[in-house]
Amino acid sequence: MRTLIISDVHANLTALQAVLKNAKPFDRVWCLGDVIGYGPDPNECIECIRLLPDLVCVKGNHDAAILGEIDVQTFNYEARASLQWLETKLLLENRHWLETLPERRTIENITFVHGSPRNPIWEYIMDVRVAEVNMAAFDTQICLIGHSHVPSVFLMGDDDESNVRLYDMIPNEPFSVTDQAIINPGSVGQPRDYDPRASFIIYDDESNQWTHHRVSYNIPEVQQRILSAGLPTRHALRLEGGW
Ligand code: ZN
Repeated sequence: MRTLIISDVHANLTALQAVLKNAKPFDRVWCLGDVIGYGPDPNECIECIRLLPDLVCVKGNHDAAILGEIDVQTFNYEARASLQWLETKLLLENRHWLETLPERRTIENITFVHGSPRNPIWEYIMDVRVAEVNMAAFDTQICLIGHSHVPSVFLMGDDDESNVRLYDMIPNEPFSVTDQAIINPGSVGQPRDYDPRASFIIYDDESNQWTHHRVSYNIPEVQQRILSAGLPTRHALRLEGGW
């Protein structure tokens, strides 16, 4: 079975459509949260994602924030401004769909969270030190995460010393995972690793092959729609640099 793994779509429908087209064919979709926030297409992205085959989706911090489940004072100014904009745009049925998302799920040998298994909504796993303490917070082989918008794979060492190492994913080069691992597919709608292309992973469970992919999309068109929607200029600017 071919599984498309996405995260942090952030209301960027153009990027999402480019990923769906490029990733075909796939049998099911796993989404690590933050479907909305920042971008101009919150309803369109929810309506597209909720119809994807055999979908597993967990709740991100932006998803929780629009539902009033977390305090938005902890968000930066632009993130708060886009949440206020979203408040006036989000359709009720789409809000209800966000409410159904769990913070954490486990299916087969995989745990799904947005941030980290230790703190599903808030914690960022950006380095091996934080990854290492999180290895004890899930009991499946794999934990899929999003949140940092940086594609990454943290692998548990196979010796007695629990040394976690960062595996350097190369786009289009399949790799297999035999140890415990924390895997982040990167962000579809707002990459932050200085590569502006949309990021995703395809997982083939029969061959145990994971493949990272990047796909270009029409960034100027999305920037234009961000600006005409009255969303913060910074959201538009950062898309072209991937920061
Ligand atoms: Zn995010």
